[in-house]
Amino acid sequence: MPTLLAQLLAAAPVVTDGAWGTQLQARGLAAGACAEEWNLTRPDEVEAVARAYVEAGSRVILSNTFGGNAIALARHGLADRVEELNRAGAALSRRAAAGAAWVFASLGPSGKLLLTGEVEEGALREAFRRQAGALAAGGADAIVVETMTDLEEARLAVAAAHETGLPVVGCMVFDAGPDQTRTIMGTTPAAAAAALVEAGADVIGANCGQGIAGFLPVCVQLRQATDRPLWLKANAGLPQVVDGRLVYDMQPEVFAALAQPLVRAGAAFIGGCCGTSPAFVAHLAAALGPTPS
Ligand SMILES: [Zn+2]
Repeated sequence: MPTLLAQLLAAAPVVTDGAWGTQLQARGLAAGACAEEWNLTRPDEVEAVARAYVEAGSRVILSNTFGGNAIALARHGLADRVEELNRAGAALSRRAAAGAAWVFASLGPSGKLLLTGEVEEGALREAFRRQAGALAAGGADAIVVETMTDLEEARLAVAAAHETGLPVVGCMVFDAGPDQTRTIMGTTPAAAAAALVEAGADVIGANCGQGIAGFLPVCVQLRQATDRPLWLKANAGLPQVVDGRLVYDMQPEVFAALAQPLVRAGAAFIGGCCGTSPAFVAHLAAALGPTPS
């Protein structure tokens, strides 16, 4: 196991961070706008989101680079700025962490489907390599491949991240199938764990898709499938649509209480996805015990 992970896991569970998109929107990012562009145009706001998580008790924070691959950035006409946007995103989180947290830089999906030929494997591999290289250059301590729904794409992303030499977390969205423990394409946690470990993931996980209550069976299946540390970032329950917007009404203390069974089921890294905020991290940190430095 990479030294950094061993060091963090000596005081497990490790509280990570919460959602970024909604935090940036609360600071004025328009819905549908390119969040990563703010790494250059509104760096103070991005750094403030990261710092709020560190101050709330995150020992690991991510970065504002989820959609930072060239294919996703092309939708905003920013495909030629992969290097600077990702370097800046990793560096902003690093500055906010200020030695009090580690930076696990975020790398998300392309938004295009391999299955239908919308994007080719070679183009995806190249896009993830460019992004991962820039995240490493920006000072990331590790890379989190997250919110993946296609195992093939996840494997390519994990392999590209692994080429940097940094520790890699590989996460998929398990919220479909008869018991809501499969990806939308039918991949089981066990199949994902095996394939992502083979591709170079040091930590295996699940994020997004469903509320935290539904993560327990996913966590149990991951634990049975692999001895790698597990990473879980659940949504704050199921959203309601209010005035055309998604609203998550789960309270942070309820989320933190539901995190405890996940830890007992083997989660080593735990945080929040959609609908969570620094308040959720503060409650997680309190509920999951003191974190020795
Ligand atoms: Zn999410």
